[in-house]
Amino acid sequence: MNLQNFKFETDSDGVALLTWDMRDRSMNVITLEVMAELEQVVDAVVADAAIKGCVIASGKESFSGGADLTMLEGFSRQFAQMLKTDGEEKANQAFFDGSRKLSQLYRKLETCGKPFAAAINGVCLGGAFELALACHYRVVSDNEKTRVGLPEVKIGLFPGAGGTTRVSRLMQTGDALQMLFKGDQMRPQQAKTMGLVHEIAPVADIVAKAKAWIVAGGKGVAPWDAKDWRPPSGRVYSPAGMMTWPAANAIYRRETMDNYPAVKAILHCVYEGLQLPMDLALRVESRWFAKILRSKEAAAMIRSLFVSMGDLNKGARRPKNVPPSKIKKVGVLGAGFMGASIGYVTAGAGVEVVLIDRDQAAADKGKQLSHKLMTEQINRGRARTADRDALLARITATPDYAALADCDLIVEAVFEDRAVKADVTKKAEAFMRSDAIFASNTSTLPITSLAENFSRQDDFIGIHFFSPVERMMLVEVILGKKTGDRALAMALDFVRAIRKTPIVVNDTRGFYANRCVLNYIREGHIMLDEGVPPAMIETTARMAGMPVGPLSLNDEVGVDLGWKIVQATKNDLGAAAVDPREERILDALYNKNQRMGRKNGKGFYDYPEKAPKKLWPGLADLQSVKLDPDTLDVEELKQRFLTTQANEAARTVEEGVVTDPREADVGSILGFGFAPCTGGTLSYIDGMGAKAFVAQCERLAAKYGPRFTPCKLVVEMAEKGETFYGRFAPGKAA
Ligand code: NAD
Repeated sequence: MNLQNFKFETDSDGVALLTWDMRDRSMNVITLEVMAELEQVVDAVVADAAIKGCVIASGKESFSGGADLTMLEGFSRQFAQMLKTDGEEKANQAFFDGSRKLSQLYRKLETCGKPFAAAINGVCLGGAFELALACHYRVVSDNEKTRVGLPEVKIGLFPGAGGTTRVSRLMQTGDALQMLFKGDQMRPQQAKTMGLVHEIAPVADIVAKAKAWIVAGGKGVAPWDAKDWRPPSGRVYSPAGMMTWPAANAIYRRETMDNYPAVKAILHCVYEGLQLPMDLALRVESRWFAKILRSKEAAAMIRSLFVSMGDLNKGARRPKNVPPSKIKKVGVLGAGFMGASIGYVTAGAGVEVVLIDRDQAAADKGKQLSHKLMTEQINRGRARTADRDALLARITATPDYAALADCDLIVEAVFEDRAVKADVTKKAEAFMRSDAIFASNTSTLPITSLAENFSRQDDFIGIHFFSPVERMMLVEVILGKKTGDRALAMALDFVRAIRKTPIVVNDTRGFYANRCVLNYIREGHIMLDEGVPPAMIETTARMAGMPVGPLSLNDEVGVDLGWKIVQATKNDLGAAAVDPREERILDALYNKNQRMGRKNGKGFYDYPEKAPKKLWPGLADLQSVKLDPDTLDVEELKQRFLTTQANEAARTVEEGVVTDPREADVGSILGFGFAPCTGGTLSYIDGMGAKAFVAQCERLAAKYGPRFTPCKLVVEMAEKGETFYGRFAPGKAA
């Protein structure tokens, strides 16, 4: 055998060990070459009577991250080419054949007659876990970092190499659907409880355990290929099946609003597959996979949530001229709502933290948050007491600025008040190392003007977190006029260390994410003023793909904050910059009814203590007109929500605030949940084409007002037939 990606050896017991260890890659991935070599191995194991069976393990720290997505993209490119040269039927056939090769290879392994066992350490995800599922026995290590799962759905795909078919044959249908819909990664114990793996062992023993199973006579027959096999939940057409399927459909609709074809395909594969013998079920799964792989949703999600996000996480915008820095200690000024959480995520990444507030009690209160959040983790079984102790030991809570002396980076998160910020910046500078970077977490104040309080303005930068910091994955890094490369590089190194995704934006009011999301919330306010039923506002927003309705979102961030932002905008930019309908709604809620949102238990919703939140009935009194829901155009309401955000995103590009479309797209999904199925704000425009987008804007502007007027940039792009990804080729800005 000529193997480049594997090592193959057979021991004296006649058990083969196939060690997957790709050269020049830190992680094993499934490529066409890997597939060809694996096929050779299966043939060799079958052909050699002296070989009893085979264990598949990895020579790296992890088993494998799954299929190489560029291989899948290659199929799509080939398809587009064949469509032109050979016609639709041939192109479809070739695409189907190509995209099911992996599924067929795994089935070949599963039915070859000899037992295969997988010995898994570290991550084993996607196509790699599908390989493990096709093996007849699975041993996983008890390592902290071991995770198995099928996360394909998160990028608009589904486990199409037998994953849905095997998982639904291994466990109860409801559990299988939940696992496939969510795409979560599982720890060893959870995977064992769910019946996905057979054995957990210390990493040093996994190969031996897998071999021992073969030596002890482990059979090369999958449960579903045995004669007496029955599906775990019984037949689809049975009373039990009828308890599952209507609910599964309803859950699918509720969770996706029918925006995610891959999730629907999972339902189809499981429902249809469970009624068929294994080989036919796999064929049906392959048909769905070929369809989904060519969907525009999968293409958009793979680009934004896998390729672009990966690029940004790896430092696509990091200045190449600055050597990598290791951030060991970070000072956080202000141990309030944001500062306390920033301290927590920083310490959680193994970095020392100095948490400063006005007095010891305030600093201690901030540190207390870390205790609380870690305790929650312990209670959920996700951390140990020792982890909490270690994390807390990394945080020094103090009012003493002298403790900042050996920090590499300071993040300021005190009150949003220029004078307070100026004061703490100066105090900190007096003790900071002369090469340390100073960052502000301001949400509204220009970084360039805050930098004036610091003598080394090139070492001053914005690092803007989103709340709740421990859950929100996006961080905006803001460049002031004088911010230098070293500050940018260190800010990006810090964001990487705390495992969040950075986007780099230039300094303007609202930066990027807040500008777009404020438009979204405003559209909800305006619809309320127009007389659209509140429930319809919330539901159509979710139908458009947003994770929460605009009124809910306003309640989460605070109706009081909404009011303050509108007032600040009016003061700074004049009355014309504010929509009077939005001001009236916010005034009625906040000033006239003291409804501040979730924080005081009343906002656009009521928050009863022991019941789910409900829209506040008083909203009806704020509507002088009440529109009949049956006369409203749902598609148009959806378009209004997405268009107002996408147009604003395009405007940030026009103004040079955002310079790379990858950042606009990734930032919009991670920062404010912009319909992930579209690939993000700019992909939404590129997806329909600038011309169609401009037409949509103009139609909405004629009917609803100039806030929908398309920005100059998209009009120009429409005229020239350009796309964002074409005109602003990713990476150009770096
Ligand atoms: P907060 O009021 O909860 O916390 C501010 C903290 O700063 C308080 O603990 C206060 O005691 C402390 N402080 C005030 N003056 C100080 C001084 N002179 N020295 C030391 N500590 C001092 O406010 P927050 O919501 O955490 O906001 C902090 C910053 O983060 C603001 O700039 C805000 O714009 C920004 N921000 C907030 C959010 C959000 O969702 N709340 C999101 C992004 C950014």
